[in-house]
Amino acid sequence: MEPTSTPVLASTPLELDPAPGHEPEFTALFPEGATLDLLATGGTWFEGPAWTGENEIVWSDVVGNRLLVWTPEQGAGILLEPSHHQNGHTIDREGRLVAASHGERAVVRREHDGAWHVLADRHEGRRFNSPNDLVVDSRGAIWFTDPRYGIDKPEEGYGGTVEMDGARLYRLDPDGSVTAMTPPHPGPNGLAFSPDESVLYLADSEVGHILAFEVLDGGTSLRAPVTFAVLDPGPPDGVRVDPEGRVWSSCASGVQVFAPPAASDRPAERLGTVRIPERTANLAFGGPGGTTLAVTATSGLYRLQTS
Ligand code: MG
Repeated sequence: MEPTSTPVLASTPLELDPAPGHEPEFTALFPEGATLDLLATGGTWFEGPAWTGENEIVWSDVVGNRLLVWTPEQGAGILLEPSHHQNGHTIDREGRLVAASHGERAVVRREHDGAWHVLADRHEGRRFNSPNDLVVDSRGAIWFTDPRYGIDKPEEGYGGTVEMDGARLYRLDPDGSVTAMTPPHPGPNGLAFSPDESVLYLADSEVGHILAFEVLDGGTSLRAPVTFAVLDPGPPDGVRVDPEGRVWSSCASGVQVFAPPAASDRPAERLGTVRIPERTANLAFGGPGGTTLAVTATSGLYRLQTS
């Protein structure tokens, strides 16, 4: 990607593919005349979008080892290089940017003065594989996944030796303690809480499904999960939940939207798909009113309006 002073590179009508029986419900999620705006291009595997201001989006060029930034005034540019192959991002309760770093095999945070610090890089003496994505709960704990992509894919990290006996979901508390929250999973990746934090959704990119865990004991433990949705086409990578509890997941054809779970023993109802021209990696709500969706998809950063 080259820095550009053109804020929006292309704008096309949003392509919506409602699931049978859900057409009005799905199309009502987007304003009439909504467009898909291409904001940046030229990446190999864009990932980890986050809103660092009402109109400022940061995201990862994982393979290019750069953290990129887009604003309406400046277009796209480089924020941090090398980024140590940062992948997922989130914003913590104090407005600081938190990143999952493949290269440092750590969870890292940008302080208000701009300095980056490692918050955690090991559990019980063993180095993490390559933290992939993360979310912060209302108590300030950072939940993150630790698959092996940053080690197994030489272009997405600095390599190294695997020390963990599996890929788990961890919780990093504000006091710095790290707890393994799940047994190993094949490919734990994106994660998001329901609005009341009673459910944690976890995308597994190897299996191609999204699991739902009931959150117990004030966020300190998880019940054994149920399969919330199997994505077709998959695989899911990043997932987000909107304020009404719908689950938005990346996939090969764009962004799939699922209704809030009616009951834990029933399969999720897919409302429809927003078509994106490239395989989609991750997404983040933000912008004025929090209704703009930033989407990273292979070589491009996209933006679309929701209702
Ligand atoms: Mg990911």
